[in-house]
Amino acid sequence: MDVVVVGSCNMDFIRYSRETVKGHKFTVGFGGKGSNQCIAAARLGAKTAMIAQVGNDKFGPDYIQNFRDNENVGLVGDTSTGVATITVDMDGKNTIVIVSGANDLLNEASVGQAENIIRSAKVMVCQLEISPKTTLAAMTLAKKHGVTTIFNPAPAMTSLDPQLFVQADITCPNESEAEMLTGEPVKSVEDAKKAVLSLLDMGCRAAIVTLGDQGAVLATATDRLPQHVPARKVKAVDTTGAGDAFVGALAFYRACYPNLALHECVERASEIATVSVQSPGTQTSYSYRRELPQTLF
Ligand code: ADP
Repeated sequence: MDVVVVGSCNMDFIRYSRETVKGHKFTVGFGGKGSNQCIAAARLGAKTAMIAQVGNDKFGPDYIQNFRDNENVGLVGDTSTGVATITVDMDGKNTIVIVSGANDLLNEASVGQAENIIRSAKVMVCQLEISPKTTLAAMTLAKKHGVTTIFNPAPAMTSLDPQLFVQADITCPNESEAEMLTGEPVKSVEDAKKAVLSLLDMGCRAAIVTLGDQGAVLATATDRLPQHVPARKVKAVDTTGAGDAFVGALAFYRACYPNLALHECVERASEIATVSVQSPGTQTSYSYRRELPQTLF
């Protein structure tokens, strides 16, 4: 296994709306940060596994069907599959409300049952759309087996267990999540350079802050030299899931190109995320390897 994701699966109900009350388009898609990142990595060619919970409802079986055979999704009764309602405005910006449902039931015991899969992976990816306790258990287990851990502390939360950052090889928030974690504003590249250093102080080995159309800033604990990787200028159609495309691609490069410098991984992951904002939807906007320039591989 190249990449194992322990995280969320949601059905996305997306309303495209140019004004407050009246929308002009509605779509249903597969989403959830965990699943998005897993699919993004898989489409680039990583062998991926997903450890997650869906509901025993109409959406659960559909969701499992959405994964490839090598992915591992548990079924649980008496609850609903996580749902997210997303509104995309005329600038391609989105607002999201999530009802997490079955995602909340993924617990430390389920993670323990997947120890063999976790041990076999090169990279683990975790987020915060499942219980932070489960996330910490998963990353601790990964580190026990020498698996590289990528922690995407999203959605933004305060009062997180400091151990989450200690167990993370790479912590990768977006600007608003970085603000929440560091307590400082992150509006510019200069702010993000300070934020990555604060994140390193929390104990991770490397930190990356994504900045939407401004790209990303990274630094490692060894050099502590923040570097800016700009994003290519494009017309954004729908930025939903751009961060997940970035994290999934980052996991792919760490797992499948172990000799590639982190800076290069961030450049390529940023390009893949930039491609994703140019088409609508979340997972529907993620590219397959064959559709991308071969210079990325
Ligand atoms: P999130 O979706 O978590 O808010 P970001 O908005 O920071 O994450 O986007 C993640 C990455 O997607 C960025 O680092 C960048 O590479 C790419 N990206 C996002 N929005 C744009 C945009 N408007 N133009 C070009 N690239 C973008």
